[in-house]
Amino acid sequence: MSENQETQKAAAPGRFTIEPMELVEVVDEFSKLLEKIELYNPHVDKELIKQALRFAAVAHAGQRRASGKPFIYHGIQTADILADLHLDSVMIACGILHDVVEDTAITIEDVRREFGDEIAVIIEGLTKIAGLKLMSPEEQQAGNFRKMILYSAKDVRTVLVKFADRLHNMRTLEFLPSEKRKVIAHETLEVFAPLAHRFGVYAIKTELEDIAFRWLQPAEYRRINNALENSVAQRDAYFIEFLEPLKERLAAENVENQSQWRLKNIYSVYKKMVRDNKSMEEIYDIFAIRIIVNTVSECYHTLGIIHSMFTPVVERIKDFIATPKFNMYQSLHTTVIGPGGRMVEVQIRTFEMHQTAETGIAAHWRYKEGKVEPDEIDSYMDWLRRVVEWQSKTPEASEFMHELKMDLFQDEMFVFTPKGDLIQLPTDATPVDFAFALHSEIGLHCSGAKVNRRIVPLDTKLQSGQWVEITTHPNKYPNPNWLNTVKTAKARSLIRRWIKRQRDEENFSLGMDMIAKIEKLRGKKISDADKEELMKKYYQRNWDQFIRSLGGGDISNHSIHNFFGLIEKKQEKRAVTARPPVGISIQGMENLLVSFAKCCKPLPGDEILGFITRGRGMVIHRTDCENITQNINDSERAIHVNWEPKDDLFFVASIRVEGKNRRSLLSDITAAIAKTNCNIRSARISTKDDNAIDDFDVDVKNLVSLQNLIKEIRKVKGVSSVLRRDMRSPGNMLKRHE
Ligand code: MN
Repeated sequence: MSENQETQKAAAPGRFTIEPMELVEVVDEFSKLLEKIELYNPHVDKELIKQALRFAAVAHAGQRRASGKPFIYHGIQTADILADLHLDSVMIACGILHDVVEDTAITIEDVRREFGDEIAVIIEGLTKIAGLKLMSPEEQQAGNFRKMILYSAKDVRTVLVKFADRLHNMRTLEFLPSEKRKVIAHETLEVFAPLAHRFGVYAIKTELEDIAFRWLQPAEYRRINNALENSVAQRDAYFIEFLEPLKERLAAENVENQSQWRLKNIYSVYKKMVRDNKSMEEIYDIFAIRIIVNTVSECYHTLGIIHSMFTPVVERIKDFIATPKFNMYQSLHTTVIGPGGRMVEVQIRTFEMHQTAETGIAAHWRYKEGKVEPDEIDSYMDWLRRVVEWQSKTPEASEFMHELKMDLFQDEMFVFTPKGDLIQLPTDATPVDFAFALHSEIGLHCSGAKVNRRIVPLDTKLQSGQWVEITTHPNKYPNPNWLNTVKTAKARSLIRRWIKRQRDEENFSLGMDMIAKIEKLRGKKISDADKEELMKKYYQRNWDQFIRSLGGGDISNHSIHNFFGLIEKKQEKRAVTARPPVGISIQGMENLLVSFAKCCKPLPGDEILGFITRGRGMVIHRTDCENITQNINDSERAIHVNWEPKDDLFFVASIRVEGKNRRSLLSDITAAIAKTNCNIRSARISTKDDNAIDDFDVDVKNLVSLQNLIKEIRKVKGVSSVLRRDMRSPGNMLKRHE
């Protein structure tokens, strides 16, 4: 039996049972197939393909599909899917012939005699795969999957025909009884779609996923599908608004291009909703556009143009041209803020990259004049060889299966909860990401982690397949340093939100204290009229906002005293909340709230001074900071402090890179930064005429690592200067304070 479609053997084998109208339909389908092939392959080997049709039609005579159609129809449709991938004549013939040995009296020797070794090897592999029952008990399934990999390793084309076969079976799934449909849909989602992803055959992978999803979760499928269809008009209008000015710029710069707006496939929308715990609206809010150009350098040029027109969300720039994905996928990815403040995902690639992105490994058997480049196929074969070698070393079938599934999802990873639930995370995610993935409260009170029963630090990079356990404590709260190591957007935004709320609350209570003191001095409450006037004077939206600004020091306490004609008491010593050390030692004042000035961003190694400020504890400035030269007469408030940096602390430094703009300048600069293991926190990229001025905020350990970073960027071709943005020329340096 073929892998899943019910065939009925003819009652009297050999008797010709096809109806005349059915015959016409089959001939029609076949000539449509030939026409389709001729469009991309003028040198198609029609004789070979006709010979395959004759051979298969005779072999399958009298057999029908569950749909009632003559069986040969399935062979033609499978070949048609291969033609959509623009495959060569041998592959098309294999599509037509794929079930002859499996489902008829024909032997593999018959095929070899008629078509030769090349086709026979592929058909033999397919026949063996078809004999495997994949959805059998775990042990057996693992063994079968293992065999499937082995057969594919003999000739990778086997697996391509298998994908096409499976896709046509999925397209005709409605004709099977519902129990069987579920089993096949499940197997497709578990085994075939991930395998198609591994081989980069995106076009097939997404359709397999969507059909399987449709039968497994029909209600969810319909909900997403309807929502997608309902928003088409609105989305189209937005795309045009975004693309029109961009197209004009590209035309002005002579960059020939094609643009597509693309929808994510339905299943990937669903997965994203589940994984990021987002509503459908939030996912549709992200618009995705693809620009296809002729050359690699035009890709980078186009990126530059887009970034000069729209603000990029810098952490989202990905260069898969310089470093292709495991399945040879290449593209530049960026996310920018489009008109109306909407996020737009942009993919930029060449036509050739586009073909590889859609068809993956199949691209190597596409019809083309020059034929196959063996080097490129090697990278896929490496993977297969590795799997084959590794399966021979893994005696436990279930363990092999477990690891293979991990490997198939290589760009994502899976870890287990203590109960054995699978949690999907991006690579390099930490236990903190894991904790937030479970529940925001678990993340916010996460106090420790165990990986495979051993205690690990919270910034440990998790590996696929590990068991992770989180301990929580009601008095534990997020550490701002987690922002440097977490990988998921969910963890990052929840930590940021928590920090901001914390700061707001602190400022609010300090502000309330100050107001209470003022009211005490005045002997009466502040009237509503005074409040109105104060809010207006300091441009505050409301009274709470005013109090927060006062507590945070944005509005000076002194000027409020002046407003009410009061004299401020000198040096009110306020008990400031105890803080964990932040890399500074201050003699005699251990529990001071310490922060670093945003104006000069001091680093360990810089000469520094501490200033006591109202409401914000001590702020550390560089001694050469412009802001303290203005306040320096108030010497009482300046306090001598020392660095006492700890190894795991990072500090923010701002640098400005200037240079002559060229196509990959930005990516070369970011590569140089990455080389020093410094993290880019944010960036502002601007281009004027021929000059690029890029400002970066980077996380560094100290002055020495910043200097190394600057040295590294100066080596980049075209860069004319790299400066610490706030560094003043040495002549302006302030005298040192002892
Ligand atoms: Mn088949």
